[in-house]
Amino acid sequence: MVDHGVRAALAGALCAVAAFAAQAEEPASPAKLDPAASRVADEGAGVALDLAISEPVPYRAFLLAEPPRLVLDFAEVDFAAARPAELDSAARVTELGWGPIRAGWSRLVAELDGPYRIASAEERIAGDRSAAIRVRLEPVPAADFAVLTAGGVPEGARWADPKPAPQGAPKRRQTGEAPLIVVLDPGHGGIDPGAEVGKIHEADVTLSFAQELAERLRHEGMTVVLTREADDFVPLEARISAARAASADVFLSLHADALAEGEATGATVYLLAEEASDAASAKLAERHDRADLLAGVDLSGQDDLVASVMMDMARAETRPRAERLARELAASISATGGRMHRHPIQEAEFSVLKSADIPSVLLELGFLSSEGDRRRLADPVWRAAMQEAILAALNDWAVADAAEARLIRR
Ligand SMILES: [Zn+2]
Repeated sequence: MVDHGVRAALAGALCAVAAFAAQAEEPASPAKLDPAASRVADEGAGVALDLAISEPVPYRAFLLAEPPRLVLDFAEVDFAAARPAELDSAARVTELGWGPIRAGWSRLVAELDGPYRIASAEERIAGDRSAAIRVRLEPVPAADFAVLTAGGVPEGARWADPKPAPQGAPKRRQTGEAPLIVVLDPGHGGIDPGAEVGKIHEADVTLSFAQELAERLRHEGMTVVLTREADDFVPLEARISAARAASADVFLSLHADALAEGEATGATVYLLAEEASDAASAKLAERHDRADLLAGVDLSGQDDLVASVMMDMARAETRPRAERLARELAASISATGGRMHRHPIQEAEFSVLKSADIPSVLLELGFLSSEGDRRRLADPVWRAAMQEAILAALNDWAVADAAEARLIRR
């Protein structure tokens, strides 16, 4: 690249940089990352981040704390040519992630090993209209970093924050007289691809499974709402809000994670609990919350959601209903020859299951880390059988749940 015309926005002490250099142009197809000319590396005492992209895009850079991280937002950039780990040679960047965060916008998050400041951030445009975004970080004392990040996500970059779910009165139990309202929650998406094994992303597996399942359930007369319809990042709390907005009778979160340790295989149904069944379950739950945190969404305020006594009472009634749903799912999947994990029902603190008055379970369809599970997940015959089993479980659950509601009312 020769003859750089520099359109630089040099960032001094401020942590937020907005450089909308190329705002006027609306690219027809998204700018593409060129991995060969891009790098994330240690440089001096700091970090150098160079991204080569096919055309200039509006971008902004800011820092967040706990954990310390650099966030870069761009008008849509296609990152498909590389995976984050391939670009990241910096020991000081402990984790790198990227992907779409909402329609038309992409986000890159670099988790840092300590406090830094943005020493400079600029976008250079070459003669051939390709662009290079350069960000330089340099270490600062923790106290300075605390000042830089005191405001959290800067104004203008807050669109990813979930709206708190309005509480209102607890939802009335379904009585079997109206179509069952099922909210399906395809796990992960956008900047959070979930588990990755080879070219398979959990976010794609869960979305296509949920779309097929939705079609099957609708065909049976159920009302189905998906928490996402595309490869979008949806914060966990927004998924809960979607269930409430839909007045869901049931919330079913779909996943297909990878576990490094052990030989996890088969489907597993997860219920919400503060104590995890085992270390692997605890790690799974932690990883799901962490994706939100890294993407710039802070879940720490989320217990306000269920602070009231009324909500605690609702949860006490909802818990056995969710347990029944978990039992029905495990039994139905086993009965149709689907493979269940040797501990088919487990518990962990999954934030997405925290609706107080909507029976919520998380179904790990299988584990992408298991070759057998990967083969099954890719097999349309297996998926159809699994969807049939989920349909049967929902039907059986709805009948038993409505009968119990009538008994309680009497
Ligand atoms: Zn997952």
